[in-house]
Amino acid sequence: MKVGIIGTGYVGLPTGVGLAELGNQVTCIDREPSKINALKAGKITLYEDGLEDLFHKNVREGRLHFTTSMEEGVKDADLVIIAVGTPPHPVTKEADMKYIHAAATELAEYLTGYTVVATKSTVPVGTGDVVEGLIHKKNPSADFDVVSLPEFLREGFAVHDFFHPDRIVVGANTEKAKNVIKELYKPFEGKTNMLFVKRRSSETIKYASNAFLAIKIHYINEMANFCEKTGADINEVAKGMGLDSRIGPRFLNPGPGYGGSCFPKDTMAMSFMARQNGVEMTLINAAIEGNLQRKKQMAARILTAVEGIENPKIAVLGLAFKDGTDDCRESPAMEIVGELINRGANITAYDPKAMETAKLLVGDKINYAEDMYSTLKDADVLAILTEWGEFKSLDLNKAADLMRHKKIVDCRNLIDAEKAQQLGFNYQGIGR
Ligand code: NAD
Repeated sequence: MKVGIIGTGYVGLPTGVGLAELGNQVTCIDREPSKINALKAGKITLYEDGLEDLFHKNVREGRLHFTTSMEEGVKDADLVIIAVGTPPHPVTKEADMKYIHAAATELAEYLTGYTVVATKSTVPVGTGDVVEGLIHKKNPSADFDVVSLPEFLREGFAVHDFFHPDRIVVGANTEKAKNVIKELYKPFEGKTNMLFVKRRSSETIKYASNAFLAIKIHYINEMANFCEKTGADINEVAKGMGLDSRIGPRFLNPGPGYGGSCFPKDTMAMSFMARQNGVEMTLINAAIEGNLQRKKQMAARILTAVEGIENPKIAVLGLAFKDGTDDCRESPAMEIVGELINRGANITAYDPKAMETAKLLVGDKINYAEDMYSTLKDADVLAILTEWGEFKSLDLNKAADLMRHKKIVDCRNLIDAEKAQQLGFNYQGIGR
């Protein structure tokens, strides 16, 4: 199948590479010349485990192409996938649809023959109708259908999730469009759940899923606060809860709040859509507010740990919004760092993958270390903010020798609390 993908970000690029690996002819389109030039030169523009090898393989084998030209990418395509950003609107916090509207309008004139236009971006309910209207207005003779094809990949696991999806949801209102998507996902037939629903249901499934997961995280964080007051241990509580198959063990890790490019914006967009439709979403609103407070509470904990110390030096491990990615968008770590900067803190940070993206956000307002131990030299407190596996292996004896004060605020419960306390650390984890 000939596929054009608009947007080469965290969704568009792994999707393009994955579809090429399945044997399709894929052209990735992006309006950012710097991204396309890099990709054409063989340089991958974001970090995702396993992406680079597959990218090179498919370029080499002639199935994966890159262009800034909408015409080149859309002309003769059987399927055009829209994977552009839908960031929060700066004022209303609803999903800002300007990139979707621009993409739909720009692609319209290059459609040739019957084409399915699939929206992979997370979009408000009813967007399919809007995209349909925009294409029809620009090119009244175009023969096309618009389907909703929401993306459920997890950043950091994008390649794995592309090839092993929990489910594929397709919102298609015509049989013809359904058949094109069935053909695309034929390699997954019998291996995953494929759900064909109304387009508006499909658009809603994505928001309903993300909001639910955000609420689950907020819930376990509140439970962690409760455990701290009562002497229970949130790790044990979460384990006990997770063994109930109705609850499940995932998304029960307490931490500094949810972040990333999806949960914060999608909860706000869902809340906005609900208000527009006269529906009160009390749980989602509580999660949004609680999550904002959570990051402030974590920053306050770190500052309390160094209270009374003159010009305290704060060592930060982790800047990405979670492990496995270089993405710092809406990262709780970055927001906590921002709070600390506002209080004039002297911060030295290390992240295995996200140093460059973090530099774009905070520049020289913090210092960057080469590795975990370099952050600790003369530090008064260590704050662990992202759950990178390598932080678990931190040698506490070495840390004790390097630090000026032996204090740890572990916002991810990565460190062995007992061992840290035995070595004389003032250790504070989450919910225990
Ligand atoms: P991103 O910002 O990383 O990438 C979007 C890309 O689209 C950018 O490279 C931008 O230059 C390009 N673009 C914008 N308008 C364009 C146009 N008119 N023509 C060509 N290119 C254009 O975004 P992302 O993280 O990949 O997210 C894309 C969508 O997928 C969003 O709606 C998001 O909510 C959704 N989503 C994201 C994830 C995730 O983990 N990041 C997961 C599921 C769904």
